[in-house]
Amino acid sequence: MNTEDSYFDVIIVGGGLAGLSSAIHLSKFKIKVLVIEKNTYPKHKVCGEYISNEVLPYLKFLDIDVFKYDAHKINSFELTTIKNKIIKVRLPLGGFGISRYCLDNILAKKVLESNVEILKDAVEDITFINKTFSVKTKSDTTYKAKLVIGAYGKRANLDTKLNRQFIKEKSPFLAVKIHATGNFPDNLVALHNFKGGYCGVSKVENNKINICYITNYNTFKKHKNIQAFQKEILYKNEHLKSIFKNSTSVFDVPLTISQISFLNKKPVENHVLMCGDTAGMIHPLAGNGMSMAIRSAQIVSSLIIDYLDGNIKSRYLLEKQYSMLWNKEFKNRINTGKFIAYLFSLNIVSEIIVLILKPFPKVLQYIIKRTHGKIMTTS
Ligand SMILES: Cc1cc2nc3c(=O)[nH]c(=O)nc-3n(C[C@H](O)[C@H](O)[C@H](O)COP(=O)(O)OP(=O)(O)OC[C@H]3O[C@@H](n4cnc5c(N)ncnc54)[C@H](O)[C@@H]3O)c2cc1C
Repeated sequence: MNTEDSYFDVIIVGGGLAGLSSAIHLSKFKIKVLVIEKNTYPKHKVCGEYISNEVLPYLKFLDIDVFKYDAHKINSFELTTIKNKIIKVRLPLGGFGISRYCLDNILAKKVLESNVEILKDAVEDITFINKTFSVKTKSDTTYKAKLVIGAYGKRANLDTKLNRQFIKEKSPFLAVKIHATGNFPDNLVALHNFKGGYCGVSKVENNKINICYITNYNTFKKHKNIQAFQKEILYKNEHLKSIFKNSTSVFDVPLTISQISFLNKKPVENHVLMCGDTAGMIHPLAGNGMSMAIRSAQIVSSLIIDYLDGNIKSRYLLEKQYSMLWNKEFKNRINTGKFIAYLFSLNIVSEIIVLILKPFPKVLQYIIKRTHGKIMTTS
């Protein structure tokens, strides 16, 4: 196929969880799709790599079985504070641990098996004129489509091109991740609080431990480098110190990202249907961005199928329904996540919260439920 000459029903910008899930879904309905992804697979990404079980029925619908790839079942949650208080509960719904290196690659393979092309290029501009999108890439090629899904993640130059509000403000958050070998329970996801941030720890495939922390730049910049920061700040939490001391990184250097923004975004901008982190990001303290990315892919794909079948009568109605469903599904979760993250950024408050919650595990389970969705149905 000469991709350049073709006119697509849908171009998906970005082949992460949201983009790839949409591509598989749409291909099942014989919709002509192109995915444009700037990187190759497999590739490590900074992420806690714990996913809520709510996605399992939908992954089954996409013909993806993560347990064939050694995903770890996780049913237990532990939270510790700087002063080493600890609270442990059973997760209401549970989840699993799998690396992005593995999961994105499984999805990308399924996209290719579904006869959808994944073009390796970076999108630099998206314009919408005369009911048609023109998607221009770094290699100076333009592709045309009826619809565009923006699934290019947390932030990109495209956000500036699309004049999105959130990109105009600097964000103070940065994150660091390693995979390591060592001893850690298979079924546990742990969140360890430290001054200015927290660190998530859980197992992924091949018995590796994912250690991923987020912090603010102001705390980080006072230290010489990542190692010094970890020793001087993270090690104050005895649980974290023990994890770092008793594990060995399998990465030559830790993976890092900066400028992580939790500011509000819009699910539709310049007629582009935004999906996953591109539409809005939940604070990872609530640990549920991946299932939100997959769920938003399910919502947008179902609506696009209805639109292309003529069941949704106009582009205006498609965009309106998507915005409405997106807000209904995710707005409260994102706000709850923000509020919890704010409370935990006040170290004394987090000590008090853990003290209060300890005798009432059901309250903590309720809070976890508020940041998670319902099991995704496929009917
Ligand atoms: C520190 C941290 C910890 C986290 N921990 C968890 C956790 O434990 N559990 C959880 O559920 N969620 C977690 N999350 C959130 C989760 O990582 C995201 O919500 C998820 O990755 C969103 O998927 P996505 O498909 O929207 O974006 P991404 O996975 O970021 O995919 C976007 C894709 O678009 C591509 N791209 C970008 N720009 C362009 C362009 N111009 N042209 C073409 N391609 C482009 C990128 O290369 C990328 O492959 C965490 C996030 C952070 C920052």
